[in-house]
Amino acid sequence: MINRRQWLCGVGMMAGAAVQSGSILASSARDPQKTEHCPLALSEFAPTSMLQVPESHVERARFPLIDFHTHITTSAKSESGVALTSDRKFLATPEELLAVMDRKNIKAMVNLTGGYDRGLGDAIAKYDRAHPGRLYTFTEPCYERWKEPNYPKIQAQEIERAHQQGARGLKILKTLGLYLRENITSGELVKIDDPRFDPMWDSCGQLNIPVAIHVSDPLAFFTPTDRFNERYEELSNHPNWSFYGPDFPSNAELLEARNRVFARHPRTQFVVLHVGSFAENLANVAENLDRFPNMHVDIAARIGELGRQPRTARKFFDKYQDRILFGTDATPHGDRYPQQVFNDQLYEIYYRFLETDDEYFDYAPARIPPQGRWRIYGINLPETILRKVYFENAARQLKIAV
Ligand SMILES: [Zn+2]
Repeated sequence: MINRRQWLCGVGMMAGAAVQSGSILASSARDPQKTEHCPLALSEFAPTSMLQVPESHVERARFPLIDFHTHITTSAKSESGVALTSDRKFLATPEELLAVMDRKNIKAMVNLTGGYDRGLGDAIAKYDRAHPGRLYTFTEPCYERWKEPNYPKIQAQEIERAHQQGARGLKILKTLGLYLRENITSGELVKIDDPRFDPMWDSCGQLNIPVAIHVSDPLAFFTPTDRFNERYEELSNHPNWSFYGPDFPSNAELLEARNRVFARHPRTQFVVLHVGSFAENLANVAENLDRFPNMHVDIAARIGELGRQPRTARKFFDKYQDRILFGTDATPHGDRYPQQVFNDQLYEIYYRFLETDDEYFDYAPARIPPQGRWRIYGINLPETILRKVYFENAARQLKIAV
């Protein structure tokens, strides 16, 4: 016969994924006083906060803003992390976008992943030209031509052509540094500072269009997916997001290669997405902003990081108020990644973080925090900084009149 508690523990164990013979069971076997402890699978744990503090609901941004970082179109075909066609998948109609934008006080949005060639033209026609001043599209490198002997020149010309088509900047995904290989999808990884891209970076500088660059990934993605990893649940759900192991460069190596590009191309403006790709270490981001006057950052998909260090973040915003751009990484219908799903709730969280001093709230519209189990605190920016972060800094990059 088993008693009720033993039975409940058994059910819990069956429901939980791979409960190990942990210390609780081992110690309860030794100490009968501890038999009340029962293992609970992490995936079952969904605590409700008992903290009672004021809650603000910021429905509209205090000032009209530019979301510098969205994904409205994506490549229709990718292999091993490399886009292999100019054809676009369209994730939303302009009407769907404009409805949310009007409700949330979003004056304009940048669709970073516009591709190149015909696909880029399609995206610009459907969004930018149909809704001038509301939607802007960036181009991307044409990696499918990487193997052609005169790729460096071809790619530089492609940037000029994209600019003539109406592209407002160049977007670099983390493909460069982590996926693109010598034979496109096989062979050695191509380095971020590979000189074959030099004409491309120069071309952006000459045309005076910004490069929005995503380099590396959260630091936890470069450490083992084990019980010490603060993003264990996220990496278990998406094992291919891990870059741990000898197949990949370290986060530090990726950032160093990126910095060499900044140094070699001082006339080219780089907006380093996701808070300089190192929101866990704002001292490092600050140091690089000091070193490279052509470096800027956006805050997309990193308010979880900024908001868990609100005092450091606030000082960072004070000091670099002219070089921080508002962005979200919003993707229509991207419900699988709640930290970047394009909906009203997502924007309200960003506004609450930037505009209030609320305490201990969710950084994503999700029951379980998707990028680590913690909550965030607002940084209550003054109006002058808000105006810059919401609009002016991005407007300068996009050559929009303020
Ligand atoms: Zn993105």
